[in-house]
Amino acid sequence: MRLYSTKNKAEFASLREAVLKGLPSDNGLYMPESIPRLPQHFLEDIRSYSFPEIAFEVSKCLLQGALPEADLKRIIAEAVNFEAPVVKLDDEARVLELFHGPSLAFKDFGARFMAQLMSYFNQGESGELVILVATSGDTGGAVAAGFLQTPGTRVVILYPSGKVSDLQEKQLTTLGHNITALEVSGTFDDCQAMVKQAFLDEELNAKIRLTSANSINISRLIPQMFYYFEAYKQIEPGREVVFCVPSGNFGNLTAGLLAQRMGLPVKHFIAATNVNDVVPEYLSSGSYRPRPSKATLSNAMDVGNPSNFARMLDLYAELEERSTWNNMKAQVSGYAYTDEATRGAVREVYDKYGYVIDPHGAVGYLALKEYQAAHPGLVGVVLETAHPAKFLPDVVAILGQEIPVPRRLGELAERQKVAISMPPEFLPFKSWLLSELA
Ligand SMILES: *Cc1c(COP(=O)(O)O)cnc(C)c1O
Repeated sequence: MRLYSTKNKAEFASLREAVLKGLPSDNGLYMPESIPRLPQHFLEDIRSYSFPEIAFEVSKCLLQGALPEADLKRIIAEAVNFEAPVVKLDDEARVLELFHGPSLAFKDFGARFMAQLMSYFNQGESGELVILVATSGDTGGAVAAGFLQTPGTRVVILYPSGKVSDLQEKQLTTLGHNITALEVSGTFDDCQAMVKQAFLDEELNAKIRLTSANSINISRLIPQMFYYFEAYKQIEPGREVVFCVPSGNFGNLTAGLLAQRMGLPVKHFIAATNVNDVVPEYLSSGSYRPRPSKATLSNAMDVGNPSNFARMLDLYAELEERSTWNNMKAQVSGYAYTDEATRGAVREVYDKYGYVIDPHGAVGYLALKEYQAAHPGLVGVVLETAHPAKFLPDVVAILGQEIPVPRRLGELAERQKVAISMPPEFLPFKSWLLSELA
């Protein structure tokens, strides 16, 4: 398998290079040179495959021998070790629960697979791989849990003191082992600037093998394809399926589009956003106007310039005189909703079905209903991207009652926080890295 940069399709990287580097030097995004189609018999017999078996078949086909099958199988056994059940609300509306992993959000799939691949590609190198992450909350938790006790890796997480929720802080600071949390007395932007400067610092890079767990690393997209197949498997045979994806940086949706390219029979995709609606606006008007994000209830989707949009454009590049815009909107429809509408949807799903949906999933539910009003008869699958208990105060306030909290969240509250205090400056951070890790 080779990958090109969306900014230069004439230069290629190996999977190893793309995974360890994250971003091509020209600041484009890595894309697979070719997207092979899965064998027809696999799609016909998909109901006889387990979730890990599906993941193996899909990645074997896409990666085209980039690593030996036995290694790939072992990596998948480590990464895909929780389920992705489809819950039936009614005949037309289903929910794909992606929150059964350690951090209770779909990002666990990407983080776990990335951790395994990085560890694999680092074998035989001298010294451990040090993963630097700046987080404003959610990504750090998934990355920390994903890399926990992964051989040959060490994770350093920088988070802004007092600016992440208690629960998020516990997810970053209570794991121990190869995970270290730095509590920075500054903002998220300070954390990000410190990490960026570290990657540019020659002395650090000469002494420590640094890499980032960037959300646009191709190794995070690959496992996100698996659960589209797993969901399709759980739908009654013969029904036409649409997927509705609550979106921020559009990695999840892009993974669905890749799955469709590999042969998954999907009738249509629905891109659901909160008021940060640059992609729905592009789909309806043809003009792309990135802008600063606005804070909303579904805050993991507060993105004003989605990083994976470049990949979407690449997938729908102009073809036989049809513009990219025409190609994309033939496959994807976009809808955007306010917080008020989102609150209404959380209540509606509970009142109608007795199902507690989180604010991100609720945005998806609204978009699915709007699409289905014009396209009846299809089975719609909303990706439920996080467990509602991750947004406990909001959901409790909306429903006016307590909701069940999974045991692993409850236990977290009791664990002791361990973090190293750090001023929001590069030099003390650099000295710490050198004294602890070089
Ligand atoms: C990250 C996240 C999203 C957005 O996913 P993208 O792949 O960035 O579009 C949606 N919901 C939740 C709960 C998230 O954590």
